[in-house]
Amino acid sequence: MSQTAQARPATIYFVGAGPGDPELLTLKGRRLLDSADLVVYAGSLVNPALLDGIRAECHDSAGLDLAAIMNLMIPAGRAGKLVVRLHTGDPAMYGAIREQMQWLEREAIPYLVVPGVSSAFAAAAALRRELTVPEQTQTVILTRQAGRTPVPEAEALPRLASIGASMCIFLSVGMMEQVVADLLAGGYAATTPVAVVEKASWPDERILRGTLEDIAGLVTEAGIRKTAMILVGPALDDAGQSASRLYAEDFSHGCR
Ligand code: SAH
Repeated sequence: MSQTAQARPATIYFVGAGPGDPELLTLKGRRLLDSADLVVYAGSLVNPALLDGIRAECHDSAGLDLAAIMNLMIPAGRAGKLVVRLHTGDPAMYGAIREQMQWLEREAIPYLVVPGVSSAFAAAAALRRELTVPEQTQTVILTRQAGRTPVPEAEALPRLASIGASMCIFLSVGMMEQVVADLLAGGYAATTPVAVVEKASWPDERILRGTLEDIAGLVTEAGIRKTAMILVGPALDDAGQSASRLYAEDFSHGCR
């Protein structure tokens, strides 16, 4: 039988903080933060403004290892306190929540996950682009360049690029030349549009638009080294004429 949030009261919540703008937090996330006793937040990317005025004891996890994080959360959870583990964007993307959840499973401490707005979608919003364009691409690939964390060979960037879909590339702007080389090796034309959005939704957000030919130079020139999303694919090109049939006059549909 499936369990609902109501049937399984949790004391520990993994909450997606969104990309930066404090208004890009779910109402559920806001309510949990406001009533939390303990908040452990990923300080390198979570906007501290989210914590303004809350009554919880707050800890930045940036300097903590897994055991230290769990040793903060578990006693509080056991004591029935409301614990929020705040992760940037959506916790399902590069959130490293799996090992925390497994630890909680072993300790039989109930927890739930509250989604957030991923930086992939905040970046698309900043660009005012739809990533799925009819007759062009209907697929979005969320991935990264191999770094200190390896990427399985089957998912190597050239291989994914060969699909020709829209791609959102996380954690990779510091290796922009390699990213470009891999995308070209995979078969994207040098004229394929690429955008880099640094700190999407923050007040100091920066947007670079180019093609595979010039984007690496633009990134170097701008000095962007981290906290940026790379978006690539023909869908970013605004000149295309294809429109969704969803709102066409002669198209009846249950999803409008
Ligand atoms: N869970 C997060 C991703 C964490 S990995 C999410 O869903 O967004 C960290 C990477 O996410 C960064 O290296 C960068 O590629 C991206 N990122 C996080 N916040 C960002 C932002 N505000 N703007 C652009 N990219 C961001």
